[in-house]
Amino acid sequence: MNRVYIKTYGCQMNERDSEQVASDLRNRGYSIVDTEHDADVVLLNTCSVRDQAEQKAIGKAGYLKKKKKENPNFVLGVMGCMAQNHGSTLVDRLPDLDLVVGTQKFHRVPDHLDNLIQSLNGQGPRPSSIVDLDEEEGSQNTIRDHIGKKGQVSAFVSIMQGCNMNCAFCIVPKTRGRERARPIEEIVDEVTRVAESGVKEVTLLGQIVTSYGRREFPVVGGKSPFVQLLEKIQDVKGIERIRFTSPHPRGFKQDLVEAYRDLSKLCEYVHLPLQAGCNKTLRAMNRPYTKERYREIVDSLRAVVPSMYFSTDIIVGFPGETEADFAETAAFFDDIAFDMAYIFKYSIRTGTPAEVMPDQIPQEEKERRNQVLLDLLHKSSLARNEGLVGKTEQVLIEGPAKKGDKFVGKTRGYRNAIFDANERLIGQLVDMKINRATASTVYGDLVLAGVDA
Ligand code: SF4
Repeated sequence: MNRVYIKTYGCQMNERDSEQVASDLRNRGYSIVDTEHDADVVLLNTCSVRDQAEQKAIGKAGYLKKKKKENPNFVLGVMGCMAQNHGSTLVDRLPDLDLVVGTQKFHRVPDHLDNLIQSLNGQGPRPSSIVDLDEEEGSQNTIRDHIGKKGQVSAFVSIMQGCNMNCAFCIVPKTRGRERARPIEEIVDEVTRVAESGVKEVTLLGQIVTSYGRREFPVVGGKSPFVQLLEKIQDVKGIERIRFTSPHPRGFKQDLVEAYRDLSKLCEYVHLPLQAGCNKTLRAMNRPYTKERYREIVDSLRAVVPSMYFSTDIIVGFPGETEADFAETAAFFDDIAFDMAYIFKYSIRTGTPAEVMPDQIPQEEKERRNQVLLDLLHKSSLARNEGLVGKTEQVLIEGPAKKGDKFVGKTRGYRNAIFDANERLIGQLVDMKINRATASTVYGDLVLAGVDA
């Protein structure tokens, strides 16, 4: 009764939350298994960012309830954003659900499972479904432990929860609550622990990291709490690379730009959500910046680090986006020449202001706009990668490629790199001479002189 499979949908924050639940469960004597077929307990850690993501998880839960027929003691739980978004109505839709755990209650999962399993074993009353969705002060501080997989070179570190913005398309403020930051010292302790276990790269996570600690901690010497945190992590022995996701253009100030100049471990890659390159659409989205301000941030980053890489999120077909609005967004997107982008066709998210906006865009038109941006992205990312051919870039070696006998890693600019290597090089930072490139990947040979290979 103690084998648990956790299936994670959605973003890196969800992955991180699942890792914490897995760690808590292991400490409680549960074993974490790799497939649902071997499990006595399945927990779905869900995403609400689009209706489609929720439908996927509901479909999975519907399928898994069949397991109850074979094994009446099988336990099925839903955690995370969809649990928070729909609460006990999920149990109405899926009466076989045993557990519904919201985004501030992940740390309560072991207690809930203990209780459910004891009851199922006849040591208590037959349990009804447990629904635990309340807000909990300090819950952001409970996402702090790691499982530590063998050969792991990179780790996510959750620095805050929630978002106080109200973008018209986004459900996150409802599912994740108000902004709550973890203390700087606790984050630095966590980063130190992962570094001691061999991790070389950390990615700091939050829905809106540029808001980190702005209510809890003071600005010191003109530096925001987020930049103070980056400076502290720069000093952690063993950590060689720092990344973060996602900042917001509104909170991206000069102190953060200068951090890219001053902190050698902060990789020259930023994922800076644009969402639209047209001020009218940005206003409709309730995104409080203009494309001119976004451009200023890009220019100031390129001024301090000319080789800066830019990635973004962008939505096409937002309600009311005319052909002229889209043309403006496409021209701006082309002008920035993004190295990477997550391009989304707007889809209605129930419960958000944009759901009821007039002038929804037909699906075929969204497809067309999506393709226009994909083509522009292909052109800019290919040009960037082809420009690297003949150059030498440092790669962090992650491990063997999924197929073939090559190894994979990432450059500081977050390009996928493929090369010959061996197991002993995993976790090392090694220069690579690039000899070929596609839009997504660079290929080359490691420069092993002086490296313990
Ligand atoms: S800033 Fe990000 S998380 Fe917050 S409401 Fe906007 S899109 Fe959602």
